[in-house]
Amino acid sequence: MVLIATSASAQHPYKSTLKLMGSRFEITVVTHSQEQANQYINLAIDEISRIEKLISSWDPNSQTSKINAHAGISPVSVDAELFNLIKRAIDLSKITDGAFDISYAAMDNIWAFDGSMTQMPTPEQIKQSVSKVDYRHVILNEKDHTVFLKNEGMKIGFGAIGKGYAADKAKALLIQKGVPSGIINASGDMTTWGTQPNGQPWQVAITNPMDKAKAYGLLPITQGAVVTSGNYEKYVEFNNIRYAHIIDPRTGYPATGIISVTVFAPKAELADALATSVFVMGIDAGLNRINQLPNIACIIVDDKGQLFTSHHIKITH
Ligand code: ADP
Ligand code: MG
Repeated sequence: MVLIATSASAQHPYKSTLKLMGSRFEITVVTHSQEQANQYINLAIDEISRIEKLISSWDPNSQTSKINAHAGISPVSVDAELFNLIKRAIDLSKITDGAFDISYAAMDNIWAFDGSMTQMPTPEQIKQSVSKVDYRHVILNEKDHTVFLKNEGMKIGFGAIGKGYAADKAKALLIQKGVPSGIINASGDMTTWGTQPNGQPWQVAITNPMDKAKAYGLLPITQGAVVTSGNYEKYVEFNNIRYAHIIDPRTGYPATGIISVTVFAPKAELADALATSVFVMGIDAGLNRINQLPNIACIIVDDKGQLFTSHHIKITH
């Protein structure tokens, strides 16, 4: 009897995989029963769907689409949550010297990474399009919570930060509901809390992007979030050069040379944005910047399969 009671009340990880924000999400909660796990997982799903409605640039009814539709016309009043997300995104542009820029989205009509492109855009097209990209032309008014894209044709998008933000928010909600530990994994944007039921820290496998079956090693997740941004799923190739789905906002050309960037940070939002930024900054500038930031570490794999790590990374095999 006692034994049964003990095992029934023991905590186990329950995992659910589903599609949210156009991506594969894996939500793991440590709790007593499948039934309770489902309740928690549904709360997380609702929270992520709520955020998607706010930040989606595909949904014409989202506040983000409204900002884009009013580019060059008028400021748009938005919820404090979206306003603050945009404000943090602009701060990230500043600390990455513009490598991260939510106004990259003006280039969406030039570069497509879904296999539909048949030729390289012309330098003229790129020049024209990149002239719309500049985070300094995203004008925020703190008092009225308005956002104004100064020039016609400007557009913002949260492709490089939204999943991380949603993961952080889902985690915060589950912590608030009393879930002792878990993982939110938004297609490689991962945030954790608590420990595994055996008391060990959650671990992440760093895989070799050239050969997914091979792991470089396991790392304990001690900083909360770990995000991997890779160019092995969404990219285009012209003349044997692989262009990642990450655009250098200063040139209008996609980043080349790096295959994957993994960033460890306290928050998934920050890790997500920095992973994208390092792609643009390149290996030297990227590592240099990461080494200057407190509590942040990163692992870069270049297109020859070579591994580069920031300070404070120790991979155990
Ligand atoms: P993943 O989708 O692999 O997690 P990222 O988090 O790096 O990749 O986000 C890449 C996405 O971010 C692109 O598909 C695009 O929507 C957007 N993006 C591209 N370039 C930039 C940039 N320089 N700054 C901000 N966002 C970008
Ligand atoms: Mg990112």
